[in-house]
Amino acid sequence: MDLTYSTEDQAFRAHVRAWLAARLPVKCETLADRRAWHRQLLEAGFVGMGWPREYGGRGARPVQQAILSEEMTRAGAPPHASGPGMSLVAPTLFAHGSPAQKQRYLPKILSAEELWCELYSEPNAGSDLASLSTAAVRDDGVYVVNGQKIWTSAGFNADLGILLARTNPGVPKHQGISYFIVDMHTPGIEVRPLRQITGDAEFCEVFFTDVRIPTENMIGAEGEGWRGAQTTLSYERGGNTLSAATGRRQAVERLIRTCRGAGLLEDARVRNKLGRMLVDIEVMRAAGLRVLSSAEKGTRPGAESSVQKLASSEMEKRHQELYQEILGAFGQLLEDLPEPYAVQQTGSTISGEPVPDNWAFPYTWSRALTILAGTSEIQRNILGERVLGLPREPRADRGPLPGSL
Ligand SMILES: Cc1cc2nc3c(=O)[nH]c(=O)nc-3n(C[C@H](O)[C@H](O)[C@H](O)COP(=O)(O)OP(=O)(O)OC[C@H]3O[C@@H](n4cnc5c(N)ncnc54)[C@H](O)[C@@H]3O)c2cc1C
Repeated sequence: MDLTYSTEDQAFRAHVRAWLAARLPVKCETLADRRAWHRQLLEAGFVGMGWPREYGGRGARPVQQAILSEEMTRAGAPPHASGPGMSLVAPTLFAHGSPAQKQRYLPKILSAEELWCELYSEPNAGSDLASLSTAAVRDDGVYVVNGQKIWTSAGFNADLGILLARTNPGVPKHQGISYFIVDMHTPGIEVRPLRQITGDAEFCEVFFTDVRIPTENMIGAEGEGWRGAQTTLSYERGGNTLSAATGRRQAVERLIRTCRGAGLLEDARVRNKLGRMLVDIEVMRAAGLRVLSSAEKGTRPGAESSVQKLASSEMEKRHQELYQEILGAFGQLLEDLPEPYAVQQTGSTISGEPVPDNWAFPYTWSRALTILAGTSEIQRNILGERVLGLPREPRADRGPLPGSL
């Protein structure tokens, strides 16, 4: 593991820092604002940096991508507008898409002209995703899709979706699934927003009634959707913990300022909690550097993505609980708070509503982190089975474990 940044990397960091300083703050409340900011990032070469040059990227090394996101977090810069398209769909297309699919979809992911959503979870298929029942039946050059998806983030403004549907109910469940690209404006698709505990309505339910999807929209071969889904999920779990560590450090520093303003730093119990959080964050930074160092050597994230997802989401939830313990009633206020109690959150939520400047919003939002992209229990199962080699959990569809009653 090499912890030093090369001269070239340090120069890149200085370049990003100066570029951001010259442009921030930027108004990013509507989708049009987000797209305008996206265009600036794109022109600077800061979107799709790791993509091959033939698709408009720079073929940048992982360390430069990590530096960019660390500096953006440090500066409080809004992210690019291409969300799941960039983080989930593009890596899946690079791995499994046909040349025609790459040519058709990648440029508009890069430019954020087309926004995407992920249509995986169903009311009865979340952790056990392979039990999904949305059906796609082949019929004269198209697949006809019927069923329901749920928890579809940003489904309300998506142009396209990645969809898992069952094409063969007569084979073991993992083998009967296919992977589709679906135009969200196709007749028969109904998107209904769901309001969540934060007050925002970022999620949607999506209903499919006789939705016709052309056969050329299938990614990979019929019945091979589970392979593609694994690729997408590995990118969904493996976030960049270096920039997350930077963001969390800033949050704790803001909390320290709030505590100072409220006279809470006199209390040794408060100082103890703040210290514990700073130690956690440095451990997270070291773990992020370790993953980055192996990525630089060309190793693709395997079970590390489960380790990172588990550790960072549990940590965030623990920290938000500690914030609430420290802040008492201030932590529960729902309106924007004045200095010295404000969080200094800016920008908009995924649904386009302004982010409330209070501590209750990130607390309620943090409850989602140990559920999305595979719950903590599921990450522990993966680590137990694939890393530690423990016996697999008994499940009805697998039959009893050898030796069990
Ligand atoms: C913020 C957020 C964004 C999301 N965005 C999307 C999206 O864009 N697209 C999409 O398709 N989905 C999305 N999801 C859905 C997400 O993938 C599911 O919520 C998740 O997979 C869990 O499924 P479930 O909610 O059905 O819970 P369940 O699977 O019903 O789990 C309920 C509880 O049982 C536990 N459990 C289940 N199975 C086991 C087991 N085998 N061993 C031990 N414990 C178990 C779970 O850990 C959990 O505590 C999102 C979720 C969140 C919170």
